Amino acid sequence: MLDTGLGTIQEAYAQGWALAAFSTYGLETTMGVVRAAEAAGAPIILQAGSSTFAHAGRAALAALALHAAEAASVRVGVHLDHSRDLEEIRWCAESGYSSVMVDGSGLPFEENIALTREAVAIGAANGVWVEGELGSVPGDEDRSVVTEVGQMTDPARAREFVDRTGVSALAVAVGNVHGMASEPQPLALELLTHIRDAVGVPLVLHGASGLPDDELRAVLERGVAKVNINTELRRALLQAFHDLDEEVLAKADLARALADGVVAVQQVAHQKIVLLSRPALQPPDHE
Ligand SMILES: [Zn+2]
Repeated sequence: MLDTGLGTIQEAYAQGWALAAFSTYGLETTMGVVRAAEAAGAPIILQAGSSTFAHAGRAALAALALHAAEAASVRVGVHLDHSRDLEEIRWCAESGYSSVMVDGSGLPFEENIALTREAVAIGAANGVWVEGELGSVPGDEDRSVVTEVGQMTDPARAREFVDRTGVSALAVAVGNVHGMASEPQPLALELLTHIRDAVGVPLVLHGASGLPDDELRAVLERGVAKVNINTELRRALLQAFHDLDEEVLAKADLARALADGVVAVQQVAHQKIVLLSRPALQPPDHE
């Protein structure tokens, strides 16, 4: 079912687990991710976003994500990822999205606050919660190229940002990069703890592809309640196409090829969902 409101992310935040938020590019990625969530019995977020609208078209991708969410047997949020365009944010908010991310992280602090406040007002008028970003996560969301060094989120500034904008969740920069870093650096977990203590809203980790499992678990204990996954799904789908057997190619069996792609996406998504939501699905035994 389409998940709206702050209930699920607040539940994750309070219980120490995170919603996996997957970037979808079309039907196959959407199907794979939703099937994984249903198999795990866990809520997820589909990010039908800004950056992938260029490929499939905004209306088509939004309709697909909203339909998949409504038809799912688990709670599925539909989220706009990385937008700086208030018209786009308004369109998504009015089209039934659960949440939107306004990304003013590349702007000076006061301009980021001004833009984010406008997005929060649009969200509030439509029952849509808003994720803001402070600090900048380097790298390209869709191409996995890290070209710049980001600025880490400052806890005191983060608190001021959240207080003045009214965002419901905050994306942070703590050494995470978009895409796959060739030589991943450890996350600044202590900084993350300070940010959590300062802001009091669920935190969002972008660029989580390629992070070791123990590092992902460590962020769950530090206020991260939404983790964005993108590169690993793309890799899985492309690998499935790469590995197609000769017979499928010879027969031009597209349905079979696409089905293989869905399965590959589903497997990777399932692994992430279980890892991130395990504290909720399997509470630790108390002796
Ligand atoms: Zn991002």
